[in-house]
Amino acid sequence: MKTPFETEERRAFRKTMRDFVTREIMPFADAWDEAGEIPWELHQKTGALGVWGFGIDEAYGGLGFDDCFMRAAFNEEFGRSGTGGVGAAMNGRMISIEPIHRLASPEIKDRVLGDIIAGRKGSSLGVTEPGGGSDVANLKTTARRDGNHFVLNGSKTFITGGMTSDYFVIPARTGGAGLGGISLFFVEADTPGFSRSALPRKMGWWCSDQATLFLDDVRVPAENMMGEEDRGFLAIMENFNLERVALIAAMLGMMKACFEDSLAWAEERETFGKKMIRHQVIRHKLADISTSIDAVEAFLNMICHNVNEGPMPVAEICKCKVFTSKALEKVASESMQILGGAGYLRGNRIERIYREVKVMAIGGGSEEIMRDLAMRQMGH
Ligand SMILES: Cc1cc2nc3c(=O)[nH]c(=O)nc-3n(C[C@H](O)[C@H](O)[C@H](O)COP(=O)(O)OP(=O)(O)OC[C@H]3O[C@@H](n4cnc5c(N)ncnc54)[C@H](O)[C@@H]3O)c2cc1C
Repeated sequence: MKTPFETEERRAFRKTMRDFVTREIMPFADAWDEAGEIPWELHQKTGALGVWGFGIDEAYGGLGFDDCFMRAAFNEEFGRSGTGGVGAAMNGRMISIEPIHRLASPEIKDRVLGDIIAGRKGSSLGVTEPGGGSDVANLKTTARRDGNHFVLNGSKTFITGGMTSDYFVIPARTGGAGLGGISLFFVEADTPGFSRSALPRKMGWWCSDQATLFLDDVRVPAENMMGEEDRGFLAIMENFNLERVALIAAMLGMMKACFEDSLAWAEERETFGKKMIRHQVIRHKLADISTSIDAVEAFLNMICHNVNEGPMPVAEICKCKVFTSKALEKVASESMQILGGAGYLRGNRIERIYREVKVMAIGGGSEEIMRDLAMRQMGH
């Protein structure tokens, strides 16, 4: 759809991203997913595009500017690859870059941000715990002050990049119960007492790693506290907004992939003496898929505009994330239906996307939590 927000720069940026994904990812995505890993080289190739540097000062290796439309385009093009695991493995670091940039000490920023943004090192955000991910205010990991250090104890799970990242942003309880007692910490993977184990086999996202992290008397310097003591909950919540925009954009790319592949199939395959596209039922399915894409795209564009202009449209982001994962669920199912048995075979975008719907409906704030937060943001 045409949009009033299109500019020459944004068009050129999208083309760069599309060309990159088409050349560097799509031909290999299936093999990487089956192998359960991606060569580290892709981190560096992606890093060289600068895409992890949105909103980050140039002094730290960032782009020195931000644009939500470009953020969305980049995530959408990764989504279009139809292999969510690649997007998770590469772009999972985005949710830790922002808090490091905003809240870590100048020494830490100087030392690590350039490497993370360039793809030489990996970083992760570890919020979710074995006891639960939705109720962040209730997290159990503790950080006890001991002189000039904090000592962390607890466990995190489902952490994307957890097996391969060098740096972690870890919220832990420094104060009393509830949201007012949480602080953020910068933790390096080689700190004594830090260990990790890979999650068992997953429904999708095969080529990205998720880990359980164990913090067993992990001592970090007091300067590794990020931001103010006991004020970490708000920082986590603020960080979720751009993560959710990225997920919405990735889902938009996934829906476009479903449309492209099911349309191509319907135009090619014949049943009952004519091309499938000539059967009205199939045409209606495709029209509905295309309508869902238009609706999400329009919603996302308005969100990007409002993110750029401020203030952060939190309720709309929450509502759009639910709307999009629900739309994706239907789109993935209907496009696989168009492919028939062929869609059920491994090695095609639609089959993978169908298996990756649920992680989008749960990760980064589940559908239930998104609806609840939207209502609260609207004052109810
Ligand atoms: C592949 C993958 C990658 C992930 N990567 C990361 C990562 O990098 N970092 C990280 O910190 N986390 C990560 N997560 C964790 C993710 O954020 C959590 O799974 C999510 O927040 C939900 O938490 P939970 O699984 O503990 O479910 P729970 O919080 O136990 O909730 C279970 C179900 O109950 C529903 N529910 C909970 N409370 C309510 C309520 N009050 N009302 C109605 N329904 C409710 C939830 O919506 C959910 O459907 C990842 C998860 C997956 C699957």
